[in-house]
Amino acid sequence: MNGIALIILGALAGNFILNLLADGLNLKNISSELPKSFRGVYEADRYRKSQQYLKVHTQFGWFVAAFNLFVLLVFWFAKGFPLLDRWVRALELGPIFSGLIYIGILLLLKGLLSLPFSIYHTFVIEARFGFNKTTPATYILDMLKGVLLAILLGTPLLAAILAFFEYAGPHAWWYCWIGVTLYMLMVQFIAPAWIMPLFNKFTPLEDGELKSAILAYASNIQFPLENVYQMDGSRRSTKSNAFFTGFGKHKRIVLFDTLIKQHTIRELVAILAHEMGHYKKKHVRQALVWGILQTGLMLFLLGQFISYRGLFDAFYMSQQSVYAGMLFFAMLYAPIDFFTGILMQMRSRKNEIAADQFAAKTTKDPASMVTALKKLSVHNLSNLTPHPFYVFLNYSHPPVLQRIHLLSNPAIAANA
Ligand SMILES: [Zn+2]
Repeated sequence: MNGIALIILGALAGNFILNLLADGLNLKNISSELPKSFRGVYEADRYRKSQQYLKVHTQFGWFVAAFNLFVLLVFWFAKGFPLLDRWVRALELGPIFSGLIYIGILLLLKGLLSLPFSIYHTFVIEARFGFNKTTPATYILDMLKGVLLAILLGTPLLAAILAFFEYAGPHAWWYCWIGVTLYMLMVQFIAPAWIMPLFNKFTPLEDGELKSAILAYASNIQFPLENVYQMDGSRRSTKSNAFFTGFGKHKRIVLFDTLIKQHTIRELVAILAHEMGHYKKKHVRQALVWGILQTGLMLFLLGQFISYRGLFDAFYMSQQSVYAGMLFFAMLYAPIDFFTGILMQMRSRKNEIAADQFAAKTTKDPASMVTALKKLSVHNLSNLTPHPFYVFLNYSHPPVLQRIHLLSNPAIAANA
């Protein structure tokens, strides 16, 4: 076993153990005592249910992670990678098509292995806690559309990257960087109009009190807003949410129908004010720039390692290829991805606080933001007391108690 294999094994084991540890701490942090600010909001029964939900989810996550690790190690050490390579090479399709088939088959296998877990998650766990609304027909259609979309959008991109690294020599990484960036921007641009409607129905919000309140707020903060959309989130789950998509003139705000049902108009305006806050504070653009920089770093390193002999030896591959090099590099890159991921989460948590503060200040109604957060937590069975280490590794938003605390004490938030 060579050094690269040891690094990848160490990273896989390290990641597994770290997550296990964080999960364990998280479960230990559960307390039967309801936090003070949630008294009168959370009923004792529902609070217990939220903790049950956390336990079931955590244990399910352990099982899936252990299974995935086991399958990967068996495939790796039973020399599955070179076996599949010999089979694909026998078809003599040339480097690009061989790469598409090699990576395509591995992705297909991965998808098939995760399918039973996904079905169990939707139809057993989510159903048990009263969230699931997905019918088997919707589930199957979603899956087919997802696969088709992945093929349609993924194939040209993958083919282009393979071709650059096959033929463009040392310049490949930055050609790829430009190509991938343009492609990502294009997909983000067409997503609201062409991709998302494949999965959900978006209807412009009806004229009425809610719409006027939102538009009045938007014009108050000089936020150009053409329309607000309602999405039939209830088709799949009773969980509720709101989000922002697109950019430039085509940006749109989307409210789940489930959200509209549960909140007062003032709460909904507060939630949307938070979303517009992300935009006004340039968080959306910032995330895009970071994403592009990270892609550049990854492609640069890929360029350095893609023909490194040790990378192929680690997986028992006698013949080198761009496609296999890409795949193995992805595993070597995982630890860097892990650390940049943590940095992104830290930045995201900071931005969430800033968006909360923006909403509180511009609506002059922090109380509605607080009640909205409380209702959302109760409705979605959120964990009120996550362990700080778990938050550090996994949370893109600060824990809800911290958000409520900062909304109630803006002076502290200013220094956070
Ligand atoms: Zn946010």
